[in-house]
Amino acid sequence: MTQLPLRAQLASALGRTAATLSRATGRGDGSVIGGRIGLALEPDLLRKLAQDRKLALVSATNGKTTTTRLITSALQELGEVATNAFGANMPAGHVSALSSAKHAPYGVLEVDEKYLPEVIDTTGAGVVVLMNLSRDQMDRAGEIWLLAQKWRRALANRPVHVIANADDPLVTWGASTVSGVTWVSAGQPWKEDSWCCPECGGPLDRKGMDYVPPGSAAPGPVPAAAHGGIVSRAAENDWACRECAFRRPQPSWFLDDDAVIDPRGQRWVLDIQLPGRANRANAVIALATAEAFGLPIQRALPRLREVTSVAGRYTVVQRDGRHARLLLAKNPAGWLEAFDVLDRSLPVILSVNAQGPDGRDTSWLWDVDYRVLRGGPVYVTGERRLDLALRLDIAGVPFQLTNSFEEALALQPPGKVDVIANYTAFQQIRSEFGRAV
Ligand SMILES: [Zn+2]
Repeated sequence: MTQLPLRAQLASALGRTAATLSRATGRGDGSVIGGRIGLALEPDLLRKLAQDRKLALVSATNGKTTTTRLITSALQELGEVATNAFGANMPAGHVSALSSAKHAPYGVLEVDEKYLPEVIDTTGAGVVVLMNLSRDQMDRAGEIWLLAQKWRRALANRPVHVIANADDPLVTWGASTVSGVTWVSAGQPWKEDSWCCPECGGPLDRKGMDYVPPGSAAPGPVPAAAHGGIVSRAAENDWACRECAFRRPQPSWFLDDDAVIDPRGQRWVLDIQLPGRANRANAVIALATAEAFGLPIQRALPRLREVTSVAGRYTVVQRDGRHARLLLAKNPAGWLEAFDVLDRSLPVILSVNAQGPDGRDTSWLWDVDYRVLRGGPVYVTGERRLDLALRLDIAGVPFQLTNSFEEALALQPPGKVDVIANYTAFQQIRSEFGRAV
């Protein structure tokens, strides 16, 4: 790798010092403050740090932290990999990630959806991974359509290899200005934001119509397909516009239940430790990305199987013989994924906050179909527990309201319990309940 210019070297070194100080004084992992200082001293620092590296940028509404980790794990087969492991997914976090692994020939960076065009432009990354786009807190379909349009413009006429989920019409549209795309059939359980063609606004016909949108079904038991019976077989994920030529491209990789089918038609059982359909989808995307870096599936897959927890997701915290498994769900599509992972033989604690990172408005809670929770003990807590309680009441889900997570946990019999929490609620539980086990 070529040597960084002196100014960039200094900016990078000072940024690292600031990050170390920030960690030493207990102000978090320091990656954002370090990167900010580096960028203030040398605005072109990210471009300089990215030069001469083989980079993959990973973006999506859901699953980008986990997929970044899986791709990183795989590429470590090839050499050192720089990555923003703690989810600091804006340019300051990228500066910090690259500057703390100065000699790594590879980089895998999680990128906030809104920052993706800028980061593609600055880093000149050779590989871009696009997984799903759906409403996040208060976003609505129109806003994510604008986001996909920005992706299109940023990717057009660029010598970039895109790995994209062909089952998500909006992602497909966002990637369709690129000539080099590896299309992956990774599934799309949450379809609420893509009933219309992004190209012409016409209706989309779908083959995998087993998911019943909330409110559109007659009251009664939830069909199994609404939470766990998510269709993964490729043909059932097909979609096409009724009014124009826009339709799903032919994928070369497929998620097939618990296995992946590679471009040669060979089926490999995934057997990863991370639970649930969403993580199997993330793994298939990671394998397709690894192959784009020249890493064959037989070397990449064992690396994915080593990953057990990503930034605290699925870790278990314990107190007084209660073992609570933490599931993070930040938006409606994320709740659907969490329901897929729940052990329905166990009680579940739901915790919802509405601080800055969560979005202050909790009206998105009404987008989620909670009827799958009927029939098991449900405990509700968090700053906005009353909002969630009202929503559950309307959905006919019995629950018990508690004043804190601690109280909810103490009400459980000794043993296991599952927890679904949104962002700050999740972080609060992690910090209050100490070390994961
Ligand atoms: Zn159309």
